[in-house]
Amino acid sequence: MTARVIDGVKLSATIREDVAQRAAKLATSGIQPGLAVILVGSDPASQVYVRNKVAACEKAGFHSVLEQYGAELTQEALLARVRALNEDPSIHGILVQLPLPAHIDSHLVIETIAAQKDVDGFHISNAGLLMTGKPLFIPCTPYGVMKMLESEQVQLRGAVAVVIGASNIVGKPMAMLLQSAGATVTICNSKTKDLSWHTRHADILVVATGKPKMIDASMVKPGAIVIDVGINRGADGKLCGDVDFESVKQVAGAITPVPGGVGPMTIAMLLVNTIEAAERTQQR
Ligand code: NDP
Repeated sequence: MTARVIDGVKLSATIREDVAQRAAKLATSGIQPGLAVILVGSDPASQVYVRNKVAACEKAGFHSVLEQYGAELTQEALLARVRALNEDPSIHGILVQLPLPAHIDSHLVIETIAAQKDVDGFHISNAGLLMTGKPLFIPCTPYGVMKMLESEQVQLRGAVAVVIGASNIVGKPMAMLLQSAGATVTICNSKTKDLSWHTRHADILVVATGKPKMIDASMVKPGAIVIDVGINRGADGKLCGDVDFESVKQVAGAITPVPGGVGPMTIAMLLVNTIEAAERTQQR
């Protein structure tokens, strides 16, 4: 039997429809959700991501602002833009696309975004709130993965979950969310010894390394739920994940494809975070 394929395009469309309805309701109180996206430099993948984010905002009825700067933009100029957006009442969410050019301190930029407009959930206050079980904004990619697991009605309480990758934007918040939901979580990184020993024990395996097709069928427990966060472009120009989809599909219980899996969910959850930010201003 081959694995169920978890359709991120379909699930994200449902979430986006719900967000559009919430935006329409908010509009009756004279509030249009606003997202500002800042892109510095000309990284081709980042350009595609920000275009997709802005297009999704417009479809949901949001006001969106895309600010694009050359790689020579100074750190001070970028910080000044972020501070101005912090003060702009028409903007509820601010997203600075990473990675930034090497001369800019990404941490400083993220800390300069007002925590209540940090719809990526990367600000240290938001990381701390997530860690202590009181999240204000959940980082979009792990949030999207949790929605996928929920839609599949995956039993998280007592499950063994293994997250490969420990970045601040994916691996660490992913592990925190799974553990808050009652799973027993192991986080692996590039120094992990005998990685496949860990992966073969996982009921839920989340892979976020950026290493194309590094997980094959021999590393997966039969029936496991396999979530592939990776986005890699092969020499043939095609996208692939960190999981060898064709082989793992033969043993897993459910699996996400690349493209069409976690990627569209990330954008949908950005919209969810932005509408929530806008709704909070109404409550205030
Ligand atoms: P980072 O490069 O920041 O982190 C990669 C992590 O993977 C690190 O913790 C690293 O370990 C670990 N790692 C690398 N190689 C191995 C290995 N061979 N075995 C075990 N662990 C390993 O990446 P991100 O978290 O930003 O992104 C990961 C992937 O997810 C990328 O492909 C990225 O494009 C994709 N991505 C997809 C998104 C989506 O919407 N679908 C959104 C964000 C990212 P160590 O800590 O030891 O260095």
